[in-house]
Amino acid sequence: MKDIIVFQIYEDGKYEDGKTQDQEMMFIVDRMLGRLTTWLRLLGYDTFSASDFILDDKEDDFLLKFAGQKRILITRDKTLRIRAERSGVRVCLINFDHIMEQLGEMVSHYDIDLEPKMTRCTLCNALIRKVRANELCMLKREDYVPDELIEEGVDFWICDSCGKVYWKGSHWENIHKRLEKLHEKISSDLYLTQS
Ligand SMILES: [Zn+2]
Repeated sequence: MKDIIVFQIYEDGKYEDGKTQDQEMMFIVDRMLGRLTTWLRLLGYDTFSASDFILDDKEDDFLLKFAGQKRILITRDKTLRIRAERSGVRVCLINFDHIMEQLGEMVSHYDIDLEPKMTRCTLCNALIRKVRANELCMLKREDYVPDELIEEGVDFWICDSCGKVYWKGSHWENIHKRLEKLHEKISSDLYLTQS
C-alpha cells in the first residue's frame, strides 16, 4: 500500500515545506518573461502576460492592480517586487535567465505540477477544447495542419478564441523530456540538500 503523505497547511496557505498550496494558482507575468508565460500555460496554469495588454507608462501600476488578491505576480524587477510586497500582492522574483532554471525557481516557491496539459492556449491563455470528428474537414482547410496527421487519426485541440490548433507531435515529446529532466534535477538537488 502506498504511503499517504499528509501535509500540514498553515493559515497563510503554505505547505509544511514552505511552498504555497493552491490548486487554482493564477499568474500575471511581466513582459521580460515571455517564455515563462508560455511554459506556465503549457502546464495548464491561467497565466496572463503584460504583453497581452496595450499599456502606457504605468505598466507596474497595472500589473499590481491586475494581480490584486487573485494572481501571483512574477517579475524580474526587484523594485516592482518591493512595491508588490508593500501592497500585499503575492509576488515571485525570478533571477535566472534560462527558461528551465526559471521554472525551477517557480517550483522552489510554489507547488507547480510539471506535467504538460492540453488545456490552455499558449498564445492567448484561453481554454482549448478537443476538435470533434465532424470538424476535421475544417482543419483540412488550415494549411498549417498537415493532411497526413488528419488521415492518421491524430487528436487535435483548438482555441476558439484565437484559432490556434494543437496536436501532440514531436514538439510535445520534447516538452515532456525537458520537464522530466527538470523534475529529475529538482529531485536530485532536494536529495543533496537533505543528505
Ligand atoms: Zn488562443
